[in-house]
Amino acid sequence: MQGTRHLNQRLKLSPGTDWVERSKRAVWHPCTQMKHHESLPLIPIARGAGAWLYDTDGKRYLDAVSSWWVNLFGHANPRINAALKTQLDTLEHVMLAGCTHEPAIELAERLSALTGGVLGHAFYGSDGASAVEVALKMSFHCWRNSGKSDKREFVCLTGSYHGETIGALGVTDVAIFRDAYDPLLQRAHTGPAPDSRRGPEATEASLAAIAELFATRGAHIAALILEPLVQCAGGMVMHEPAFLAAVRRLCDAHEIHLIADEIAVGCGRTGTFFACEQAGIWPDLLCLSKGITGGYLPLSVVLSREQIFAAFYDDDSARAFLHSHSYTGNPLACRAALATLDLFESDDVLNANRVKATRLRTALEPLAKHPAVRHMRQCGTIFAFDAKISRPESAKTFSRRFFETALRHEMLLRPIGTTVYLMPPYVLDDSEIDLLAWRTRATFEHVMALDL
Ligand SMILES: *Cc1c(COP(=O)(O)O)cnc(C)c1O
Repeated sequence: MQGTRHLNQRLKLSPGTDWVERSKRAVWHPCTQMKHHESLPLIPIARGAGAWLYDTDGKRYLDAVSSWWVNLFGHANPRINAALKTQLDTLEHVMLAGCTHEPAIELAERLSALTGGVLGHAFYGSDGASAVEVALKMSFHCWRNSGKSDKREFVCLTGSYHGETIGALGVTDVAIFRDAYDPLLQRAHTGPAPDSRRGPEATEASLAAIAELFATRGAHIAALILEPLVQCAGGMVMHEPAFLAAVRRLCDAHEIHLIADEIAVGCGRTGTFFACEQAGIWPDLLCLSKGITGGYLPLSVVLSREQIFAAFYDDDSARAFLHSHSYTGNPLACRAALATLDLFESDDVLNANRVKATRLRTALEPLAKHPAVRHMRQCGTIFAFDAKISRPESAKTFSRRFFETALRHEMLLRPIGTTVYLMPPYVLDDSEIDLLAWRTRATFEHVMALDL
């Protein structure tokens, strides 16, 4: 290693060249076929500022996907940084069993207040997938404590994504993540998802199928889990809020918990702080992660209703929810989340985002008219469209080719299959919004031109 570094210095190679080779040898990158990095660039990121990431050569990239949907207020945000520095000098971590601390308490109280007190108990986890595991276990255990241990099945929707641990994969319906592990999984019932591209009929069909499943299996079903308003990893598949309200009614009628996985769509992404607000409903359990710390530190939260909490409240330890992760409720992560909530309040973020989203929508209009663009759609600050590609071989490599071309246009953009989406941080100014729209169009035209 030392030798390589000295060699690089002599040859005046950027340190990034060294990083890339060392990383390919030592780091097993997530969600990646490592062999693809023989040709696909691995970008050595040296620093971030606002919506931009800078590599070791000083080249910049607009983080148009918020670093996997986590970053809300830009990289190295001065206000989140300051809050974390203070917390760091006060308390870095303490176990949350038997102890408590201010950031965990304040965050739980403020999240509860954001649900009007309906979801008044916050259980902390580390990543999104761990929140899903918590919600599934909690639902099952709640019914068991209530004398209904037959309720042990779950329902998810087609195209759903709820994380990649074994339990979460059981309620995930994205073949590429799930198929290899199928023999290990406890598979959930899968109901057809609504899809705005297929119109109200898809919603009707979905509700009818869920109603029928509930009517036949209801006594065995603990919970239905869904991603409110947008199935993100499944390809930015959107539905109307009315669907959520109808599912809520079905769950009530059959004594089935509704788990809202707001890991991606929460924290203002869809235009309201929680996506469920748009349907005027609350779930029984709500999972939050990703943006909750502004993209700083891993943290997830499961918010639960009083009735669920009460089903565990007893003298008997075996009736308690004996689940934990070592870093549950980490004070630094909770502090980053509090600083994030502060920014929502002080900067009137939801209203400001409405204005920004309108500008981006307008700026994307020329792209929407491209003959190979299908189904340009929007929900809050999520924009997506499908590329119409006739040759199947081109469709297969579209995402990688788009990613590489976008890099040359100074953008970090990773399509899902042939679905291109933008999920930028909330801090873009007008010129960055225009740049994003214009360069997405240029990238698309470039990739499609090579395709013919
Ligand atoms: C990302 C995501 C998860 C999993 O979160 P991780 O932190 O990656 O484990 C679960 N559900 C949804 C909807 C997600 O988008």
